[in-house]
Amino acid sequence: METYIQIANLNDFIFCPRSIYFHGIYSGAEKGTYDSHYQVAGTQAHKSIDNGTYSTRAEILQGIEVFCAKYNLCGKIDTFNIKTKTLTERKRAIQKIYDGYIFQVYAQYFALIEMGYTVEKINIYDISHNKTYDVLLPEQDQEMVTKFEEVVYGMQHFDLNVLFVPNPAKCQHCIYANLCDKAIC
Ligand code: SF4
Repeated sequence: METYIQIANLNDFIFCPRSIYFHGIYSGAEKGTYDSHYQVAGTQAHKSIDNGTYSTRAEILQGIEVFCAKYNLCGKIDTFNIKTKTLTERKRAIQKIYDGYIFQVYAQYFALIEMGYTVEKINIYDISHNKTYDVLLPEQDQEMVTKFEEVVYGMQHFDLNVLFVPNPAKCQHCIYANLCDKAIC
């Protein structure tokens, strides 16, 4: 059976490739049993999107499932304004724009393009600070596209059994540390 990469996992994979494995174990569990405080807050930020209550305007696509055959990715977009051709990903609070954030919107972008939409603008919105960050389109940033493709390739070929050196600073903040046999806390 074909295995698709979840768009939401791109950022987690960059944090630690092994976290994807544990995320998979928990994917059938009740979310409250494993979400950390920050993840719960992030989930709340997305609730109106997932429930489709963010906007009732017909030109806004929200929380729809998307799929990208080119990179074998699937997931949901936050919002896409068909009229302004703007793709927006909302985050609860942003300290900095991590590559993983950009890879998530790139994945959504590539999926929307495959579905026949025209996307002319991408941005990431910080809900807490009411601040919008513009993101260059993939065709305007080849260096970032190359990094994106390397991460996708890494996820497709990741082997849990290969030699792995954990990063203690990450393990200390990892919600899977109590399960992970490589955890250094
Ligand atoms: S505990 Fe450390 S090695 Fe294990 S998944 Fe988390 S960050 Fe990675």
